[in-house]
Amino acid sequence: MYSSNVDYHRATSVADAVKTLEKNKGAKLLAGGHSLIPSMKLRVANPAVLVDIGHIKSLSGIKVTKKEVKIGALTTHAAVAASAELKAACPILPEAAALIADPQVRNRGTIGGSLANADPAADYPTLMLALDATFTVTGPKGEREIEANKFFKDLFTTALKRDEVLTSITVPAYGNMPGMGGAYLKHRHPASSYAVVGIAAMIGLMDGKVARAVVVAGGITANPMHAVAVESALADMEPTEANISAAADNMDIEATLGDSYASSEYRAHLAKVMAKRALMLAAQRAGG
Ligand SMILES: Cc1cc2nc3c(=O)[nH]c(=O)nc-3n(C[C@H](O)[C@H](O)[C@H](O)COP(=O)(O)OP(=O)(O)OC[C@H]3O[C@@H](n4cnc5c(N)ncnc54)[C@H](O)[C@@H]3O)c2cc1C
Repeated sequence: MYSSNVDYHRATSVADAVKTLEKNKGAKLLAGGHSLIPSMKLRVANPAVLVDIGHIKSLSGIKVTKKEVKIGALTTHAAVAASAELKAACPILPEAAALIADPQVRNRGTIGGSLANADPAADYPTLMLALDATFTVTGPKGEREIEANKFFKDLFTTALKRDEVLTSITVPAYGNMPGMGGAYLKHRHPASSYAVVGIAAMIGLMDGKVARAVVVAGGITANPMHAVAVESALADMEPTEANISAAADNMDIEATLGDSYASSEYRAHLAKVMAKRALMLAAQRAGG
């Protein structure tokens, strides 16, 4: 199916994009187009104006300091997957980006587009919650920051206002922190590679015991969620297989998503099994 008629505006700057969004109620930003264009062709999305931000150079790129990593919203999945700096500073991100779809999607799709779209089956939202990411957005009143735990509101719904542009995402450079390890595992849909279930795990070790445990599950609820009972069961424990296995058995997120490929019961089971595996890998990488 073809999309309905749409006007096209090629934005020259973030300010220009914001101004165009502000002026046109039915306008939508176009980044890589790999979620928006298919939705337009299905007429699920019918924007009156497409505001193409794909040529705004300042929105692309990865900046790494000792403490944190700032990723421009327009940075493609392929650039994230290939970044040597990211592999050292925040290895969980390139690891996950390499698992997104296929080379065509990875070469066009952007990290900002994926986060703004908030698809429950996308990979980045799960990672951003696990990493306590900060999102920088620009709107008519200037710049503001949104914490990852306040960004995802519902299925395909975020805290972004209609006339705001997500400009960058900041995450900790945990690769530079001794005793920290992370892992992302996903059960991919065989047709699209979207996450049926995706688990991000982070482990921080101190004196051989777990000082910090993070487990976030994506694909089983409208937005990714922390498995709080699993995280707290690991506090001050030695990262042994038995302890991790017992902690993962506390997986307490009630699965609400399900379809003909994977029922909610199956997703809940996968989340428990995969949490165990992701935690084991994160602990191993943390040096446990
Ligand atoms: C066949 C296929 C397989 C896929 N498999 C996976 C997968 O395995 N894992 C996965 O995570 N994803 C997958 N995707 C989705 C893919 O990652 C998309 O690229 C991504 O979801 C959207 O990024 P985009 O740059 O293409 O955004 P667009 O499609 O251009 O935009 C998506 C939405 O975000 C808004 N938007 C875009 N940029 C901004 C911004 N900077 N600020 C505010 N709003 C913005 C747009 O207005 C639109 O509403 C797949 C897509 C396809 C087509």
